[in-house]
Amino acid sequence: MNLSDIQHAADTTAVVPETAGYTGLETIELGAARIQVDDKKIINCRADLNQLVPFKYRWAWEKYLAACANHWMPQEINMSADVALWRDPKGLTEDERLIIERSLGFFSTADSLVANNLVLAVYRHITNPECRQYLLRQAFEEALHTHAYQYVIESLGMDEARLFNMYRELPAVAKKAEWAIPFTQSLGDPNFRTGTPENDQRLLRDLIAFYVVFEGIFFYVGFSQILSMGRRNKMTGTAEQFQYILRDESMHLNFGIDVINQIKQENPHLWTPEFQQTIITLIREGVELEYQYAQDTMPRGILGLNANMMWDYLRFIGNRRLAQIGLSEQYPNISNPLPWMSEMIDLKKEKNFFETRVTEYQTGGTLNWDD
Ligand code: FE
Repeated sequence: MNLSDIQHAADTTAVVPETAGYTGLETIELGAARIQVDDKKIINCRADLNQLVPFKYRWAWEKYLAACANHWMPQEINMSADVALWRDPKGLTEDERLIIERSLGFFSTADSLVANNLVLAVYRHITNPECRQYLLRQAFEEALHTHAYQYVIESLGMDEARLFNMYRELPAVAKKAEWAIPFTQSLGDPNFRTGTPENDQRLLRDLIAFYVVFEGIFFYVGFSQILSMGRRNKMTGTAEQFQYILRDESMHLNFGIDVINQIKQENPHLWTPEFQQTIITLIREGVELEYQYAQDTMPRGILGLNANMMWDYLRFIGNRRLAQIGLSEQYPNISNPLPWMSEMIDLKKEKNFFETRVTEYQTGGTLNWDD
C-alpha cells in the first residue's frame, strides 16, 4: 500500500459526530493553535490528544509516576519454599490446595480480561493524554500480573492447560468472567462513540464495572485467602507475588475512582437517579457473586477465614466502593472482619512493606550502553 492509498483509506472513514471526542488519530493540521489546559476533558475532548502537557489532571500523572516507581518483576521472588511445600504430600491440606488452584485459575485469565477492557474498549474513549499515560502503564501491569500467575503455575509444576482453562471449565471461576465480558463487548463495538448522554453513561458503567466491581471486589476473596496463607508461613513466594499485585491493583482502583468522579464532575447530567440505581445494582451483584466464590472455594473454615466472615468483609468493601463514587452505603452496621487486610490495602502504597525491594530496584537499574 502506498501513501496515497493510505490517505484514501483515511478519507473514507465514517464521519465522527460533532459531540464525540477525538481519538488521537485525527489528521495533523499544520498551523493549529497550541492547546490550552482549560480545553482538556476526560471524555469528549477535542483538544489534541497527542500532547501530554500542559497537565490538567495531576493526580493521573502522579499515579503514573508512583506506578513506575513501584516496578517489579515476578522472577525477582524466590519460589523455592513454595515448590518444596507444594511437592510435599503432607505439606498442605486438600482445602488449602483447592484455594491455591482456584485462585490461580481465576486470576490467570482475570488480568487478561482487564487488559482487553483497557486496550480494546476503554482507552479509545478516554480523551486525555495524562490519563492515557496511566492506562498504558496499567495495561503493562496487567500483563505483568498474568506473567506472575504463569510464573507461579510453572514454578509449582501445575497443569497449566487446566489452570488457564478453569474459567471455561469451572462454574465458580467462570461466573465472574461471564459477568464482566459484556461490558467490554459493549464498548468494543467499532461503531460505539461517546458524545450522547446514553453512550457516555455506557462508558461510565463499564468503568465502574471493571474498576470498582471487577478489580475492586472480585479480587478480594482470592487476595485474602492467599495473603492469609502467607501470614501463616505457607506459600510465601506466591503470597509475595500476590502482595505486589494487590499493591498495583489498589492503585488501579484508585485511579479508576478518580476518573469516574472526574467524569461525574464534568458531566453531572449523566449521574441521574436511574443511573445511580443501575450502578448500585451492579455493585450489589458484584458483592453477591464474590460471596458465591467465597462459598465455592471455602466449603469449610480455613486459614482463619470462612464464607460467613467473607460475607461481612464483602459487604464492608461494597459500602466502601459505593461511598468512593458518591453513592449511599447499602449494608448497614458492617464492620471490617479482616483488619489486617485493611492495613495492607490502606497503607500508602509507595511506602509499604516493599520499600526495600523497590528502592533496590530503582537504584539497580542501570543500562550499559557499551554492549
Ligand atoms: Fe488491575
